[in-house]
Amino acid sequence: MDEAEKIKIIAEHYGYDSQSRQCIEEMAELTQAINKWWRVCGNGQRTEKSIAECRDNLVEEIADVQIMLWQIEYLLLSTPEVNQMITQKLNRQLERIKRE
Ligand SMILES: [Mg+2]
Repeated sequence: MDEAEKIKIIAEHYGYDSQSRQCIEEMAELTQAINKWWRVCGNGQRTEKSIAECRDNLVEEIADVQIMLWQIEYLLLSTPEVNQMITQKLNRQLERIKRE
């Protein structure tokens, strides 16, 4: 079974209400993980955590958010639509960089 099939089964099992709330929770956890990474790198208030722990946490929270975004995309949108928007945005940003 590929990742897309697993996402479909999980998204259909729990549904949009549950997964959209879970997505919000995971985004908050990723926010914390990014902030913790800043702190472990010496920016802001010191943290007891090690660089390895913070890095592992960052990997986990990015994965959690990506999984939730894939489910929202599956339940509400269409992958080609999202991919097309990603392509447009990346191209636009590259154009801005070229003009800098
Ligand atoms: Mg999480």
